[in-house]
Amino acid sequence: MTATVVRDDLTRRDPRERISKSFVRKAEGCGNAAWLSIHDPRPWSPPEKVSFGSAVDAGVELLITYLRSDQQPDIRRAHQGAMERVKDDPTPPEPSEVLSALTSWLAWDVVQETDFSYAVTQPHIRLELSGIGEVDAHPDLILKDAGGYEHIIDVKTAKAAKPANAAATSYTELGFYALLREAETGGEVATVAYWTYVRSKKPYWQRVSAPVTAHLLSVAQVRVAAVARAIEADGLLNDGIAQPANSVFINPPRYGCGDCEHHPAVGGSCTWAEELEEVAA
Ligand code: SF4
Repeated sequence: MTATVVRDDLTRRDPRERISKSFVRKAEGCGNAAWLSIHDPRPWSPPEKVSFGSAVDAGVELLITYLRSDQQPDIRRAHQGAMERVKDDPTPPEPSEVLSALTSWLAWDVVQETDFSYAVTQPHIRLELSGIGEVDAHPDLILKDAGGYEHIIDVKTAKAAKPANAAATSYTELGFYALLREAETGGEVATVAYWTYVRSKKPYWQRVSAPVTAHLLSVAQVRVAAVARAIEADGLLNDGIAQPANSVFINPPRYGCGDCEHHPAVGGSCTWAEELEEVAA
């Protein structure tokens, strides 16, 4: 039987009801994409790089279930589960590349030295945060050390290595997770980290970590609260308006329009894309 990894369907979450980490990141990536995801949501087809990341994420989660219970990891079953997770994606990843990522993760010295006894994978944290409102997130992994301190880890795949300060400045992802976890448990999260599989010519796993500081938490709080206020302002401005308009989420795309489901070329209703392309031409 194939091991499976079940994930909540996150595509139907409405940020006006509760703010997810994904929405906050989307709002930072392109204001209009965030706005359209509220007013004109469209199905999204994950590109290969996203499917690869989902497969590796699922495979790592399955491997951790073996490590947590002191069992010999069954890489074959973890790989099957990883591929099962993305079998319906339009461009599923090359199975051998997923297998390489999982095999090298198991052999990685960071993994060899980690105590997974109290590991929690994909916890669903949903609560009311003061000054923000209802929030919702799923960190990949929470570890607990011998001193009882928690460590939050996000498993990534990327074409290039992350900069050394990536975890320390990850306010709206790792910082947001730490903020939520501390609100949920009342305890302290000691560190946050990215474990990234770098898909370079010679792929490798990279760890970038940072202590959870008051600065990380307070910037996370302020930035997520800013997104919450923007949603609120947008709701007020468009209340009762037949044709809502975006006058709040105004930041242009940070990483281009590449895979965006709102681009007119794929039937989306974004009016910014062509203007931006004209300016760039
Ligand atoms: S097409 Fe480009 S500008 Fe328009 S919503 Fe998408 S990312 Fe933003």
